[in-house]
Amino acid sequence: MIRLEHISKTYSLAGRTVHALNDVSLQIHQGEVFGIIGRSGAGKSTLIRMLNLLEQPSSGQVWVQDQDITRFSGAQLRAFRQGVGMVFQHFNLLHSRTVLDNVCFPLRLAGVGRVQRHARALEVLELVGLKDHANKYPRQLSGGQQQRVGIARALANRPQLLLCDEATSALDPETTQSILRLLREINQELGLTIVLITHGMDVIRSVCDRVAVIDAGQIVECGEVLDVFLHP
Ligand code: ADP
Ligand code: ADP
Repeated sequence: MIRLEHISKTYSLAGRTVHALNDVSLQIHQGEVFGIIGRSGAGKSTLIRMLNLLEQPSSGQVWVQDQDITRFSGAQLRAFRQGVGMVFQHFNLLHSRTVLDNVCFPLRLAGVGRVQRHARALEVLELVGLKDHANKYPRQLSGGQQQRVGIARALANRPQLLLCDEATSALDPETTQSILRLLREINQELGLTIVLITHGMDVIRSVCDRVAVIDAGQIVECGEVLDVFLHP
């Protein structure tokens, strides 16, 4: 489904060149939960941002269903991004807006009419178990509930791909497990491909099918979770 080929990314910082990714190639299969693990500064965020082209690679290609998205025009890229949901570490909710409005937000950007927006938002809020909280404000909810809103918002446009950027790193272990169970359910019920980045081994063990280990901008290991972590 997704193929990164020879991706490198350099940043210029105060006259120095930072090699954030160095010749990374990997494949993500349709319908799997794919984890990317590595320590801070390893290149995880840069890598996940290649999958919706929030950052352009310095070199290499990103193939999604046999199209190289690095060659997309602005309009093609905007259309493509509507099919990619993203979940953030700090939820990134608008605090002056209700839960319902937060979930409607990407639908509004996509030009979906008001009635359909509300219907779809309630549908995804039901999926994450928060339909009864639709008219509350984010600060009236716990951290775990706020992340469920973040997940509902990411699902509102019915994406083909869900990207999770340290989605459980701000949550306690118990809440982390309940969010990971939710992601697994979403993966199984909707058949949605999920890519997540984390620095936590338990996250990978709980929810991922396959994993890539990244260090200093390079993939040092990649395969089934059981093979990578149980047979070193
Ligand atoms: P991780 O997500 O694993 O912590 P990042 O992808 O954020 O790693 O960062 C990889 C490397 O690239 C780090 O050395 C980081 O400092 C550098 N980097 C990331 N973003 C930028 C940027 N916008 N400008 C300059 N350097 C950056
Ligand atoms: P508004 O401008 O609608 O009143 P806020 O001022 O509450 O909303 O938030 C403005 C922006 O800051 C939002 O995009 C939100 O994602 C971000 N933000 C606010 N609080 C937090 C937080 N605790 N953690 C992460 N992002 C936050």
